[in-house]
Amino acid sequence: MPELPEVETIRRDLLSRIVGRTITSAFVSSNAPRLVQLMPPAEFCKQLPGHRIEDISRRGKYLLVHLSGGLYWIVHLRMTGRFLHREDPCPEDPYLRAGFTLDNGSSLCFVDLRKFGTMWLIDDPSLVVGKLGPEPLSDDFTVAGLRDLLVRRSAPVKAVLLDQHAIAGIGNIYADEALFNAGINPRRAANKVSKPKTEALHAGVRQALLDALSDRGSSFSDYVDGSGRSGRHQLKVKVFRRTDQPCYSCGTQIRRVKVAGRSTHFCPNCQR
Ligand SMILES: [Zn+2]
Repeated sequence: MPELPEVETIRRDLLSRIVGRTITSAFVSSNAPRLVQLMPPAEFCKQLPGHRIEDISRRGKYLLVHLSGGLYWIVHLRMTGRFLHREDPCPEDPYLRAGFTLDNGSSLCFVDLRKFGTMWLIDDPSLVVGKLGPEPLSDDFTVAGLRDLLVRRSAPVKAVLLDQHAIAGIGNIYADEALFNAGINPRRAANKVSKPKTEALHAGVRQALLDALSDRGSSFSDYVDGSGRSGRHQLKVKVFRRTDQPCYSCGTQIRRVKVAGRSTHFCPNCQR
């Protein structure tokens, strides 16, 4: 699933390509009945054309397309969604779930193999993103805030990192990478993480996300950027999906276990 670095890479790509353009037509495939939330797809397709794209922001894993008239078009890619800008119309594709044309003849194509992706057209984005935790790369994410979060929870620390209401934008890849950076066992109870380790985790989360951002995200399966190119960070991860391979720090074999129902990768020597 695309996480913060992947969604942020798409946002930056689209920003330079579609801001200032006006949407001229919209279609949603009848084979994607759950794509549009809170309104019928026909209503969504009727309302969207005529709006100018003013800006694009991001909250956690959500893209927020700011439209003229104070509307927000919110997109969540979920498992396999791709949100692509093309200079020509969306090509035939069995997984094309929605397509949007812009006033310069270019198009936005929403391609989604698994069909878990979701969109909203809404005037109050807080209805969708209002309960998300702080953005980990912003000043809202502090060591003290992370400490407050951890001391109140006895769940494994990895489960807290994955909780979008606790911190926004971290998924399975960067939770594992952040915990490796911090030298913390993913199964450790959140309220048993020491103060110095909390500081290390705060830094480790940011490092994991910034490293991935500088590589334009990780393409382990479906993720591509706003113009259809793969990211590069999957070649540089430290533990994620490196089961049985040697730890880059100490040579110990990376182990895989289940934590919070998710495949979890860690070095049993470096992460205590
Ligand atoms: Zn190690």
